[in-house]
Amino acid sequence: MYQLQNVTKSYERRGQTVTALNSANLDIADEDFVAIVGPSGSGKTTLLSVLGGMLAPTSGIVSLDGESLYDLSVEERTAIRAQKIGFVFQTFNLIPWLTACENVQIPLLLAKKPADEQRERALEMLERVGLADRIDHRPGELSQGQQQRVALARTLANDPQVILADEPTGNLDSETRERVLEYLTEFQHDGRTIVMVTHDEAAAAYANRRIRLVEGVIQEIAVSNAA
Ligand code: ADP
Ligand code: MG
Repeated sequence: MYQLQNVTKSYERRGQTVTALNSANLDIADEDFVAIVGPSGSGKTTLLSVLGGMLAPTSGIVSLDGESLYDLSVEERTAIRAQKIGFVFQTFNLIPWLTACENVQIPLLLAKKPADEQRERALEMLERVGLADRIDHRPGELSQGQQQRVALARTLANDPQVILADEPTGNLDSETRERVLEYLTEFQHDGRTIVMVTHDEAAAAYANRRIRLVEGVIQEIAVSNAA
């Protein structure tokens, strides 16, 4: 799936250079569930953004299925992102004035699918995450856990091969946290690759591989066959 070779990302701020990612070498296999842990500021979000085709590294090569992401044109990279990659965020990033169903339709709208197909697929995905009875609710009318499940349904809408999740359980209580992690595990069993940033050791235990970032340097900590 992914191959990173000597990937470094530095930010310049007020004349100072911060190296957020330092010569990262990393292979992520198809259908892996990888947890990325590490203290605040260690480069986790930077790594996820680089994997997502959203942030060009300062140097190094990021390949997705053998294609060097940042050697593509912006249009080609955007197309790959829309086709292969799903994102989940700590803050859900739902559009407040749209219903659950409309939120899930967004990626399909952007992919210019016909309206009836958008709605049909969105309903199917909301059903999958147990929200068939909430399709016309707006985010403000849903609990935090339900909002994150709408976000999961939206991520699935385009049937991505890889799901990149940045602290997806950070705003949830322990019960809804477990539910979201079980869904991510299910999505892995569908044949998808999951890369999840988390602060939480209990959440990381759902992954079959754990990587720690310390000041931008990758340290592998555990690989298991638990999945
Ligand atoms: P994490 O997600 O592990 O908290 P980040 O990847 O967000 O870490 O940040 C890693 C380092 O890069 C931090 O020192 C942070 O301050 C710095 N950083 C992140 N984004 C920017 C930016 N846009 N401009 C300058 N520095 C940044
Ligand atoms: Mg972060």
